[in-house]
Amino acid sequence: MLTRDVPLNVREWMQGVIKEEEINRYLVNGRDFINDEEIEELLRKHRNPEPQRVRDIIAKSLALERLEPEETATLLNVEDEELWEEIFQAAGEVKRKVYGDRIVTFAPLYCSNFCVNNCLYCGFRRDNHLQKRRRLTIEEVRREAEALVSMGHKRLIMVYGEHPLSDVDYIARTIQTVYETKVGNGEIRRVNVNAAPMDIARLRILKEVGIGTFQVFQETYHHETYRKVHPEGTLKAHYRWRLYALHRAQEAGIDDVAIGALFGLYDWKFEVMGLLYHTIDLERHFGGVGPHTISFPRLEPAINTPFVQETRYKVSDRDFKRLVAVIRLSVPYTGMIITAREPAHIRREVIPVGCTQTDASTRIGIGAYSDRYTEQDLKRQQFQIGDPRSLDEVVRELAEMGYITSFCTADYRCGRTGKYFMGIAKKGKIHHFCMPNAILTFKEYLIDYASPETRSVGERLIEQKFAELDEALKPLVREYLERIERGERDLRI
Ligand code: SAM
Ligand code: SF4
Repeated sequence: MLTRDVPLNVREWMQGVIKEEEINRYLVNGRDFINDEEIEELLRKHRNPEPQRVRDIIAKSLALERLEPEETATLLNVEDEELWEEIFQAAGEVKRKVYGDRIVTFAPLYCSNFCVNNCLYCGFRRDNHLQKRRRLTIEEVRREAEALVSMGHKRLIMVYGEHPLSDVDYIARTIQTVYETKVGNGEIRRVNVNAAPMDIARLRILKEVGIGTFQVFQETYHHETYRKVHPEGTLKAHYRWRLYALHRAQEAGIDDVAIGALFGLYDWKFEVMGLLYHTIDLERHFGGVGPHTISFPRLEPAINTPFVQETRYKVSDRDFKRLVAVIRLSVPYTGMIITAREPAHIRREVIPVGCTQTDASTRIGIGAYSDRYTEQDLKRQQFQIGDPRSLDEVVRELAEMGYITSFCTADYRCGRTGKYFMGIAKKGKIHHFCMPNAILTFKEYLIDYASPETRSVGERLIEQKFAELDEALKPLVREYLERIERGERDLRI
């Protein structure tokens, strides 16, 4: 059923999007992998866990093994504050073991906010008539990319509403434009995409233009809540089309896929379980390759979007830190993304319990990096962001906390994706590659873009992290650092 106020050409386009046969092949006896009753039952059954049981599960994570649903349900049920402290400590340790003290940094680039869907929580929803609609022209995409490259970014996530105006051909052209953009020494080396679910043929087009990760958030894994927040008659109302979006991406050859849940739509413990079941199903279908990253955005206020204030399931700061730590322990090998939706003080608190990626200098208005934006325009963004600090400020703070900001994109460009990436992540060996490459890209950033204060904090941190490298790696890294000083760029291990 399609609503009447959607123009005919848009309705026709919508009818060609969902391919049932690209869902049904993944179902088992007609069921998807989220069994709501089973999840609720596991969460009930493992209430009040024995401390020893919790510690055994923590030990399994520290050995970098992915947890099973009953183990994650047990961690989610911990009440004791001291046990939570042990969980936070362990989560930080797992992060250090797998990824080292580094944070990968990126910026989002919003290209179009036309949308055929009506998600109750989103400022871009079709019926939000206070939203100004805009799609960037190719020239405007180039200008946005130039602005981002000039700040020092090397990685973007490009974001699109679901609409024929931003179909796969538009997405592909905008990505190519970004890859072509050069400013001085700078360029974008990896473009990830957050867009609506697509069929396999369209996903192959994205693969061909060289996307890094394809990211789709399930929003909520709870079937009934999903139905309530995604009105019938929209494409997004189709829970399973979305649930298997990343299975299709894998089939299309995009082997870095990213999952996420929007926290605040339903019980946070249920959503963490959903993310784990999603991980397990991807591993099962694709030879052990789970999600490259997991995201856990919290609902933020958006213009003319009363749902956000009305939800019963808002996640407190205390529970937010807990859910991040439990995801970290449940899937030790995955990257974890905290975004600028969160204010600076929460990011400081939560990064140490397991995050591996963050955005900086974030603007989510369409054209917001290169246009002059008024206060009113900022209010009309998809939602309100919590941390508007510049890249330089974020990099400096992270360095003061002991984290190297990595602009590295070598994994992807050296073919260290999918199965290969998982193999080294699961053995806790990523940081053998990542830390040297993080140091080298950080050095480039400090020379080309950083303020004098950031540069001085950053140079001290490089020496500290260099000293901690394997002895065998040191001569090559030192040589590369000197070559970067002399003007060479894009050197990687
Ligand atoms: N339209 C595509 C889709 O829905 O998958 C991709 C773009 S959408 C702009 C990206 C993500 O923004 C959504 O998946 C959702 O999780 C998040 N989002 C929407 N409304 C939000 C809000 N009020 N606060 C925080 N995040 C929100
Ligand atoms: Fe459209 Fe995505 Fe916003 Fe839903 S979340 S209204 S699909 S842009």
